[in-house]
Amino acid sequence: MISVEEALEFIKSEKVSFFNTESVEVNKALDRVLSSPIKAPMDLPPFRQSSMDGYALNISDDLIYEVLGEIKAGDNEKYNLLPGTCVRIFTGAAVPDSANTVVIQEKVKRNENFIMLENFPLENQNIREKGSQIKNGRLTLKKGDKLNPAGLGFIQSLGIQNIKVYQKPVVTVIVTGNELISPGNILPKGKIYESNSLILSAGLEQNGIKPQLVAEIPDNLDATEKVLKKAFDNSDLVLISGGISVGDYDFVGKALKNLKVQEIFYKVFQRPGKPLYFGKKEKTYCFGLPGNPASTLSCFYVYVIPFINKLCHNSNIELFRNFVPISHSYTSNKKLGLFLKAFINDKKVTILDYQNSSTLVSFAKANALVYLPKNSRSIQKNDLVEVIHLPLF
Ligand code: AMP
Ligand code: MG
Repeated sequence: MISVEEALEFIKSEKVSFFNTESVEVNKALDRVLSSPIKAPMDLPPFRQSSMDGYALNISDDLIYEVLGEIKAGDNEKYNLLPGTCVRIFTGAAVPDSANTVVIQEKVKRNENFIMLENFPLENQNIREKGSQIKNGRLTLKKGDKLNPAGLGFIQSLGIQNIKVYQKPVVTVIVTGNELISPGNILPKGKIYESNSLILSAGLEQNGIKPQLVAEIPDNLDATEKVLKKAFDNSDLVLISGGISVGDYDFVGKALKNLKVQEIFYKVFQRPGKPLYFGKKEKTYCFGLPGNPASTLSCFYVYVIPFINKLCHNSNIELFRNFVPISHSYTSNKKLGLFLKAFINDKKVTILDYQNSSTLVSFAKANALVYLPKNSRSIQKNDLVEVIHLPLF
């Protein structure tokens, strides 16, 4: 059995060979990861731009200037300003080459075609110089950057329409268990409604991935082997829920062995999710997630998301972690590493009730997981504890 830290190290150090790229339109590239750096094909801003509403003037040694006309955003007006003359100008408009400063309208008194300034102006005020944001040919965003709305807007403001990004991995989700019934069916005694396929699919979708196949299989070695073989042949990542423990009807481990999947690790000294499995066969990776719904989801956030981010070539792979004061004392008699459903509010974190790995009720209200490393026993109110922030919803 390995520690949480060792398991995460295996995930981080795995050298993935998934490098497929594709060209996509910028307006369809939210959350995609650049596979090539982006160089600016033009200066930004493309011309000298006024950053304020006011007057663009050619400075003289007087405080009075004649107003020759006006330039608003989008205009292509040409004015040749001699010293002592100016134009009315608005934010975003092109400043004439002959103007050497912009004075804001609040600092000016206007009288018909003349203005009087309060003070002698400094040169080059309130002007965004051509190329001051980025110069033609300079590197803007680099390979491995994930595109957020600002990134998309920045690329589009450079006039770029298509970009190269890494392809998303093809992910298959498989749930195992004789007891599972799909919603909408009558529930005979002994059966339960299946929920892990939805948990995993929704978690993947929050990361911009739609699973290509979601399959449900009974606890039976042949069926498990057959479905797993097909999944390995057609996916980059296979997520299996349940059947990975040591019960007589847990067949996932045996099926993976029979299919010659190479184990990277099995069993992590943690709660929930001790029987977590991670392995690979050729280029396809697989997680065997313990079937209790809260264990599946906890392992998904802590291990699967970082690995998916690796497959996506995202340079930040783990969910954001930091240390936050706890709002209450907490005692644990467990020696293992603990992931506890929690809520951060007012810069403090509170561990929620109902931590049992079979229940999702506390997870549904959580915005963080508190991570207590193994042998953390007694925690006092206001002690700093490590938290993993769950994706925002
Ligand atoms: P297992 O890991 O297969 O031993 O399952 C552990 C517990 O999780 C059992 O109580 C299962 O009934 C439950 N479980 C397994 N798979 C699912 C699923 N897909 N949806 C809901 N509960 C599940
Ligand atoms: Mg089972």
